[in-house]
Amino acid sequence: MSGNDPILVITCPNCGAATEFSHAESAAIPKAHRDPFDRHPAFDVVTGRNCVGSTVTVASYFSPVTGPLDNIKNLPDVARSLTWSQWLHDRPAGVSDLGAFRCSACNTARRHQLSWPQDAYFQITYKDRALWARNRGEALKLLRFVESDGREKGVEYTSGQPWALFRTEDRFLRRVPTHFLRAKARREVARQLRRRLEMPDGGS
Ligand SMILES: [Zn+2]
Repeated sequence: MSGNDPILVITCPNCGAATEFSHAESAAIPKAHRDPFDRHPAFDVVTGRNCVGSTVTVASYFSPVTGPLDNIKNLPDVARSLTWSQWLHDRPAGVSDLGAFRCSACNTARRHQLSWPQDAYFQITYKDRALWARNRGEALKLLRFVESDGREKGVEYTSGQPWALFRTEDRFLRRVPTHFLRAKARREVARQLRRRLEMPDGGS
């Protein structure tokens, strides 16, 4: 896991394997420049209200599908002078869920609208409640936590900026509900986590 840019591992919608989700690279575009982006198949253009109620137009591209900006053919002239970011601050609601994946198991590369936590690959269900981790590193942390004896204090996670985009997830993972930690639940939760992680059963 690298600092405040946690990897999100999702279930490939095509084959079910674990694959990384990448947020779209987005930039605010001046209204007068919208047309070439609208016509270009590599871009997605959204106009909407930002968090302070102003109308903004944002263009996005999807590097798992197209590669870096310089790889995109017939790039609109203004594109290189814009600031592209996966974490564009000034954007309409909904743009934060836009992204793409490239699955190495089935070779599918396509756009994907993130539904979190439903998309989470490292996810288990115990008695109708779901528990998930964003990536393998976190899932391992969770497994160790579930299997350890001295776990009164809850799991600590770094709270970088991307983290704030997933507030429900934040609350959920910051303190693993006792539902998953009771003596009865532990073995089953650990078993399912290990299966997701492709690790042999621990036996404890
Ligand atoms: Zn796949």
